[in-house]
Amino acid sequence: MSRYVYDFIEGNKDLKDLLGGKGANLAEMTRMGLPVPPGFTISTEACREYLRTGAMPAGLLDEVTQHLRMVEEKMGKPLGDAHDPLLLSVRSGGKFSMPGMMETILDIGLRDANVAALARHSGDERFAWDSYRRLIQMLGKTVFEVPGDAFEAELAAVRAAVGVRSDADLTAAQLQEVVQAYKKVFHAHTGREFPQAPHEQLILAIASVFASWNAERAVLYRRQERIPQDLGTAVNVMAMVFGNRGENSGTGVAFTRDPATGRRGAYGDYLPNAQGEDVVAGIRNTMSLDDLATIDPKAHRRLLSIMERLEQRYRDLCDIEFTIENGKLWMLQTRVGKRTPAAAFVIAGQLVDEGTITLDEALQRVTGEQLAHLMFPSFDTAAAPAPLATGVPASPGAAVGAVVFDSAAAAAATQPVILVRRETNPDDLPGMIAAQGILTSRGGKTSHAAVVARGMGRTCVCGAEDLEIGPDSFTVRGQVIHAGDVISVDGTTGHIFAGSVPVRPSPVVRYFEGELSPMGDPLLSAVQRLLAHADHTARLGVHANADTGLDAERARRFGATGVGLCRTEHMFLGDRRVLVERLILATDDAEREAALAALLPLQRADFAELFTAMDGLPVTIRLIDPPLHEFLPPLEELTARVARTEALGADPGRDGALLTAVRRMHESNPMLGLRGVRLGLVVPGLFAMQVRAIVEAAATRVAAGGDPRPEIMIPLVGAVQELETVRAEAESVLATVTGAPPIRIGTMIEVPRAALTAGEIAEHADFFSFGTNDLTQMTWGFSRDDVEGAFFGRYLELGIFAASPFETLDTRGVGELVRTAVDRGRAAHPGLITGVCGEHGGDPASIHFFHHAGLDYVSCSPFRVPIARLEAGRAATTAATASDSR
Ligand code: ADP
Ligand code: MG
Ligand code: MG
Repeated sequence: MSRYVYDFIEGNKDLKDLLGGKGANLAEMTRMGLPVPPGFTISTEACREYLRTGAMPAGLLDEVTQHLRMVEEKMGKPLGDAHDPLLLSVRSGGKFSMPGMMETILDIGLRDANVAALARHSGDERFAWDSYRRLIQMLGKTVFEVPGDAFEAELAAVRAAVGVRSDADLTAAQLQEVVQAYKKVFHAHTGREFPQAPHEQLILAIASVFASWNAERAVLYRRQERIPQDLGTAVNVMAMVFGNRGENSGTGVAFTRDPATGRRGAYGDYLPNAQGEDVVAGIRNTMSLDDLATIDPKAHRRLLSIMERLEQRYRDLCDIEFTIENGKLWMLQTRVGKRTPAAAFVIAGQLVDEGTITLDEALQRVTGEQLAHLMFPSFDTAAAPAPLATGVPASPGAAVGAVVFDSAAAAAATQPVILVRRETNPDDLPGMIAAQGILTSRGGKTSHAAVVARGMGRTCVCGAEDLEIGPDSFTVRGQVIHAGDVISVDGTTGHIFAGSVPVRPSPVVRYFEGELSPMGDPLLSAVQRLLAHADHTARLGVHANADTGLDAERARRFGATGVGLCRTEHMFLGDRRVLVERLILATDDAEREAALAALLPLQRADFAELFTAMDGLPVTIRLIDPPLHEFLPPLEELTARVARTEALGADPGRDGALLTAVRRMHESNPMLGLRGVRLGLVVPGLFAMQVRAIVEAAATRVAAGGDPRPEIMIPLVGAVQELETVRAEAESVLATVTGAPPIRIGTMIEVPRAALTAGEIAEHADFFSFGTNDLTQMTWGFSRDDVEGAFFGRYLELGIFAASPFETLDTRGVGELVRTAVDRGRAAHPGLITGVCGEHGGDPASIHFFHHAGLDYVSCSPFRVPIARLEAGRAATTAATASDSR
């Protein structure tokens, strides 16, 4: 027969799957000999069984009874006794902490026959009656589905009758009346009396904690935090201790270090004569742990020494809930504590200094996501007013702008704007692109606004439910904000401020830029140290996607060791567009060659600039990729222009020729059209000109004493013959220029066919670079521009995607193609170099995949280079003791 119940003394901190986080840690503390009220844990397995069958698993209740008897013996009193009752708390606690999401029921065992006894023992009659009415309300609601409003109405009626506004102002006698009223409500809705048998209360409470796993808010929370839905919660049953038995009692929360800054030293809040939840509820002003030292030095010393032991045991910051009853300290909870991104870095560094963890372990205590947060500009909180409201922080950043309420206004605005909508839909896309930030009153992290904003790197706060949004103003707690008023939106915290809050550049970015020294700054020196160690352990190199010398210089300052993708099409824009038009309109070889000859020196100068910035490091240049008609005016615009000219009886001239070309080149699906290598094979001389510009620029740099390391990358290859043809042409151009270093020629792998035939392709390629954006689009058969705003939110909600496949590589599908191509490519060509140049190259989870797939490097935007460096190091150090502070 399976076993479901474990006494605290039987468990330990590593049994979170079975006992949940709270239970495993209560067990660990019990085992360490710390003062934990006696109790036991019902396993998550029992919960899963209960949720599956809707009934208590066989044998569970007998086990509970046996373990309860041990608790009664230790406490020297029976559950719910009429004269000196043992009371119990029944506490939820799954593997991952879900603060406040599930039920915890206190004071089980209270009943008509012993409220007075509790009042005597706790010295607080009011508390006894208040506890009783809470018990009736909570069990009534969660177990018997009595509508919460029915209880609230009675409470309101008593408040009104005695003329007070807050429950806290009700006296013991008035609360006793509330209890009588509640019992009537209970009876009216259930047809029975409130259970007076303590054991029945206990069993009902256990069942309601099981059931609270599936409470709507808990389900939502897990979806947002990516916690699996099928784990179930454990139930911890333990003796109550009372912090509200006078001035010698109290309750508090504490951290072994400051979770905001990482500063060393115990840190916490204490409330004398109070019960657990009062501290966090913020109903009375709390005192600090130092104050506790003056009012109860003995308990304070005990607490500090316990905190030190907990840190040693967990080798990390711990957070703690404790209660003091008549001078005796009780530990009610501990866990590895949550912390801000800055504190995560600082603490990891401190723990290394203290000799508690190794540098490898320290890398496991921080994440690229945390580093990304530290790199966003932030609001100067000292200068910020109190927030107007707080929503879901959906996409980080600090945005300031004038409020607009529709997408067209945002797109037309000349000033920075914040687009404010109840929710967004695909029609809002132009406005979302134009806005500094997006604010909605509905939807969570998977809403349309959130998904699209994250994809674009736009600041977004969604689901700010306190906002009432009208057509040209919104109201929040009585304050009206009109269109045109300036607001500030913090995508990192979810805060919304009226007016313009000053924005501060991130000190971490200023350190990367060389503007701040890490000396003497705990955060910057921790970042420096952990990144240095990441670079030391990483197997993956980190290159940057950079198209200009300036981008490349910044990437280099951020630690990139090469350019993994230079997009040459950016060099065909602006004034150079007319040269491309000339190329397209050329009617004979001479005209075409003249157009190419005019482009050549411009390209050469671009490349020379890039080689200078990346001197001594590889620069991978992708030959032109997008369809040429992208360089021509749009069809609609041109048609209208030509029609207007003709209507005036004039000759449209060049526009007429352009229109013919645009019509000829029109594609109904350009993503799958004439682009990449196909273009190189169809437009004579185009690729050859680019190759010449590269090799000549390299020769010039060598002559000037530089060390250029160009590599030529052919986009969109699907068949080896394409690569062979282009390669032969490129090699013949390279052979005509002397004084340049040897130049590698490789290909992008971004068409599924290329991945599948990688063995053949590798024989003609010096390197592979995975273009995971196109590879994702083509593997799934959807185009990012069309689908991201259209249905990704729904897919995320349905769980078809755990994350957008454009943000985090779809390892099962697209990743399988990557693995296949690497394996087949390497088998055919052992020295083959492999890298990634899609956006996934900067995404933490994807980087871990690329590490394990055996790639040589990832390439990402300059801004994400430090994040990629950190994650490349983390991927290479899989410390056994990875801490989970989730
Ligand atoms: P959560 O997981 O939401 O933090 P808890 O299970 O920790 O919920 O319970 C909420 C509060 O109830 C805690 O702050 C704790 O102080 C109080 N509490 C729980 N069990 C006991 C107990 N046995 N004695 C006294 N207070 C308790
Ligand atoms: Mg708690
Ligand atoms: Mg591509």
